Amino acid sequence: IRYKEGEGWHDAQVLPRGPLTLDPSAAVLHYAQEIFEGMKAFRTADNGIAIFRPDANARRFRSSADRMAMPLIPENLFIRAVDELVKADQDWVPSGENASLYIRPFMFANDAFLGVKPASEYMFLVIAAPVGAYFSAGAVTVWVSETYTRAAPGGTGAAKCGGNYAGSLLAQAEAKDHECDQVVFLDAVHHRFIEEMGGMNIFFVFNDGSISTPALTGTILPGITRDSILTIAREKGLTVREEPYAIDQLLEDAQSGRLVETFACGTAAAISPIGVVRTKNGEVKIGNRDGAGPVTESLREVLLGTQRGRVADTHGWEHRVL
Ligand code: PMP
Repeated sequence: IRYKEGEGWHDAQVLPRGPLTLDPSAAVLHYAQEIFEGMKAFRTADNGIAIFRPDANARRFRSSADRMAMPLIPENLFIRAVDELVKADQDWVPSGENASLYIRPFMFANDAFLGVKPASEYMFLVIAAPVGAYFSAGAVTVWVSETYTRAAPGGTGAAKCGGNYAGSLLAQAEAKDHECDQVVFLDAVHHRFIEEMGGMNIFFVFNDGSISTPALTGTILPGITRDSILTIAREKGLTVREEPYAIDQLLEDAQSGRLVETFACGTAAAISPIGVVRTKNGEVKIGNRDGAGPVTESLREVLLGTQRGRVADTHGWEHRVL
């Protein structure tokens, strides 16, 4: 779908995948006006196809667009574009507990000029591909980066824009150098409070049965999985806090046994237990097990069950395509 100032959204088409033609001075190539979403379509128990909370992705896409001085795509147009692609690709929606069709809507500035100003022409596209589990089974090991931060107050941390990820690549490489699966970012002001991971939010489970996750302060991505887990946890009667959690406190709590489970969550990773937190000064094991702890497992069962139509959808999260 194309956008031009004065004309609005037009030219919607479903096409076979192929290369795009861009002018070398296309605005996106110079000033990175680009945003995207990540969502999944699942094969349901009755062999239909459902997308999980596309309205939430449509809203986040609009707020990312707003932050990047881009036009807002109407929520119903965003969802319709995704629906049309999933229908066209319905044979590619796999079945199986960890399999899904990953959907990637994105928008970029494509008019040709070199001045630093918001563009007046944009393209909105949706592509999709079948995917399996993000992590292999078992708990993941994470690296706490003290070298790089992801987002500063007033920056673009809460927007899902490509540039945030370009800035994260070196931190992720640093994590790999330390034999870790993912990087954990600390805040850019105190270099102390845990923010989120390269492509996931993070949760902590304490020995009094309560859970916590960093609050949405503008420097972390408001994850849709995060929001779903907060809802599910509250309904389970757990005490839920959105509050700062410092890395030094985490290391102390893991040693003392106050912190009993930690997990990462996101569209790609679903809910993945974190078994080891590694820093440049050493590492701690969380909960002394290789798989998910009981609270992580019970939240995962409701989330995955809702996505695949096994658990009653009491929140209207399931959007049926077929
Ligand atoms: N944080 C970051 C930086 C991410 O890229 C993602 C993935 N979109 C998340 C958190 C999790 O968000 P969601 O649950 O909406 O996938």
